[in-house]
Amino acid sequence: MIQRPTTFYDAYIFDLDGTVYLGDALLPNAQRAITTIRTAGKRTVFLSNNPTHTRFEYSRKLTRLGLPTPPEDILNSSVVMVDCLRHTLPHAKLFVCGERPLIDDLRAGGFSFSDNPREIAAVIASFDRTFVYAKLQIAFDAIRAGARFFATNADRYCPVPGGGQPDAASIIAAIEACTNTRCEAVVGKPSIYMTNAILHLLQMPPERCIMTGDRLETDVQMGLTAGMAAALTLTGATTGQAAQASAVKPHFILNDLGDLLPER
Ligand SMILES: [Mg+2]
Repeated sequence: MIQRPTTFYDAYIFDLDGTVYLGDALLPNAQRAITTIRTAGKRTVFLSNNPTHTRFEYSRKLTRLGLPTPPEDILNSSVVMVDCLRHTLPHAKLFVCGERPLIDDLRAGGFSFSDNPREIAAVIASFDRTFVYAKLQIAFDAIRAGARFFATNADRYCPVPGGGQPDAASIIAAIEACTNTRCEAVVGKPSIYMTNAILHLLQMPPERCIMTGDRLETDVQMGLTAGMAAALTLTGATTGQAAQASAVKPHFILNDLGDLLPER
């Protein structure tokens, strides 16, 4: 049961993994749809929960795949994490369960790092394919010594060709389980931090925007909470059957981004 928009919106916000591309290939009709939307004079921006690349790397990847996009039109959870920490714990010493691009973004944002639990002001949990027991031990010791606890995103897995990779939800769960604490804030979709960052970037009322993604609990939920139109694409983490069964109801359900274009 595919439902598609009947008119253009003024701004289109796209998730990346499972929505625009999978691995190193654009998904069907992504290029045609996004190019058509741009040609119609509408704004396109990209929003990812994935902090394993910087916005500069995402910009280069989109451009290489045939969708030239400046870094300023891309937001990911590490950009928003830096912004959030600058307000709550400026210049703090951090311990990061995350990968190099997140650490680079945090360093550029004025933060430093420590492995000493007594020095650590905050533990940052993230999508970390280098996660080991020794990191869990430091996070555990730091939080028990009073460190605060934040996370970039809470996705359970990241879709990749042929399957998925365990994402930040599993790192958060490991730290929560051993410390018996709850992560204080998850800044990625569908949080208010991400919503505020995107609306600040667009400078546009939410009702003129449409959020499109492959996950109900992050992409669609964020769009709905923000007062935007919300579209689910069936090219990634969500099947049509799962969409029917969910309490999160997008305005539109698309086979791929081609269905985002108004019917003529
Ligand atoms: Mg996705």
